[in-house]
Amino acid sequence: MSDRVFIVTGAAKGIGFSCAQRLVDDGHNVVLADRDSDAGLRAARDLADGTPRAIFVECDVSDPLQVHNLIAETLGAYGRIDGLVNNAGIAIKGGALDMSVEDFDRNLSVNLRGAFLVSKAVVKHMVKEIEERADRSRLTDRPYAIVNMSSINDTVAIPDYLAYTVSKGGLLQMTRAMSLELAPYGIRVNAIGPGSIKTDMLASVNADPAAMEKVLSRTPLGRPGLPDEIASVAAFLLGEDSSYITGQCIYVDGGRLAMNYTMPKPD
Ligand code: NAD
Repeated sequence: MSDRVFIVTGAAKGIGFSCAQRLVDDGHNVVLADRDSDAGLRAARDLADGTPRAIFVECDVSDPLQVHNLIAETLGAYGRIDGLVNNAGIAIKGGALDMSVEDFDRNLSVNLRGAFLVSKAVVKHMVKEIEERADRSRLTDRPYAIVNMSSINDTVAIPDYLAYTVSKGGLLQMTRAMSLELAPYGIRVNAIGPGSIKTDMLASVNADPAAMEKVLSRTPLGRPGLPDEIASVAAFLLGEDSSYITGQCIYVDGGRLAMNYTMPKPD
């Protein structure tokens, strides 16, 4: 068991839930934050299993007041914050020709502004704690880390998910800029770029064999990824095994970004 405390946003289901589960399994305390309170409460209850290891806080990450409350609840429950997974995200369909300005703003407000708001609140607390410490030379005694859930779409674009693509491109650059700003404090900031992962976000693909075939035609490993294959990388980036990695994005994409051709149709 550890006394470390991590916040995971968008943790009620999918990749966020798997990240929370992995961190609890590794012996840490986890605050599951999500705007879906029914699913979030259920998820935290399942993970805690009668222990104080996991709690749920209702939070829409795009709302500064709710983010403020998330930090207050976390500190009230555990008294510390060691790391954050900015995972909450939505994908609204539409391109330049058909997307409303409202939908564009909404997608960016969750995926990019949300990650900014939660990171800002968390690092403010971390830096305060670091500056209060008498011996700054022992920074690595308490490794702080942030992981942003980006996407392969921070690099390759999907035309009919314009705002989503823009949000992930922005998140990658936010990862890099914040990693430089926070390096003097020993706070590491990295990202994960998933390919196609079996969650509700991929529901339309999971239910449509032709769409799945299209996804697999550009996936060298020949299958969609599983949420726990993302969670293991999040646990690595939050932990001491990645102590010299900052400002990076690890692509967990079954080989997708390495290829510049389509796979032959399987027999
Ligand atoms: P999901 O839809 O299964 O789960 C997303 C969770 O985020 C839900 O619990 C939802 O309630 C929560 N959420 C949405 N808006 C929120 C808000 N404003 N505030 C707080 N919580 C909010 O999605 P997923 O597939 O698990 O995706 C998680 C992250 O991974 C997203 O950032 C997504 O862009 C990224 N990603 C997913 C895939 C994939 O193939 N599934 C690929 C690349 C990147």
